[in-house]
Amino acid sequence: PSFADFNLCPELQYTLSELGYQEPTPIQTQAIPLVLAGKDVMAEAQTGTGKTASFALPMIERLSKHPAPPEYHPIRGLILTPTRELAIQVADNTLAYGTTLGMRVISIYGGVRFDNQIRKMKRGADILVATPGRLLDMLAQKKLSLEALEILVFDEADRMLDLGFIHDIKKILSYTPDKKQTLLFSATFNEGIEALSDTLLNDPVSLSV
Ligand code: AMP
Repeated sequence: PSFADFNLCPELQYTLSELGYQEPTPIQTQAIPLVLAGKDVMAEAQTGTGKTASFALPMIERLSKHPAPPEYHPIRGLILTPTRELAIQVADNTLAYGTTLGMRVISIYGGVRFDNQIRKMKRGADILVATPGRLLDMLAQKKLSLEALEILVFDEADRMLDLGFIHDIKKILSYTPDKKQTLLFSATFNEGIEALSDTLLNDPVSLSV
């Protein structure tokens, strides 16, 4: 398999070669074509498998096909993570992939001052990476809107359930449009994950690496 097989735009192919990514990892080979095709995907993949690029690259490709007006960046991609550390890491990677296309990526998470993050939000972003609790606070206070959301990703969904975020997740969903693409990544599949995917995903393709 080769990254060229995915027909990614030249900017992304250039970015991948700059990053020194020579060939896609197994999860990337499986997930990228499905995400590009607009499918809902449920994927069992551990950290270190290249899972971040497997959702971030096709998300960026899809969003770049019809860019938002530059002066107004409604959030069109949302990546939920269980922890602040993961939010920061995923946002860094997503920014590295999207920067040549001018994608704006920001992250919000608990444990830091609210007002700084509100200022960050006001400038707008194409892609938001967030932990559930802080995101819900912002939504409840009407500091951001998810009305233009097109793609929603749950990263490390099993840890989100372990940390008790299920109620927050359900409330966050009520702020999003019904019609959207949803991707669920989890290190393990179990009953809780299956139940979550039944409520979140529409006719999903299930992958495992
Ligand atoms: P992740 O599993 O998403 O945390 O990725 C693990 C590490 O692998 C990160 O440092 C990525 O930058 C790197 N990586 C992801 N995909 C590739 C690839 N196709 N080739 C080389 N490195 C990669």
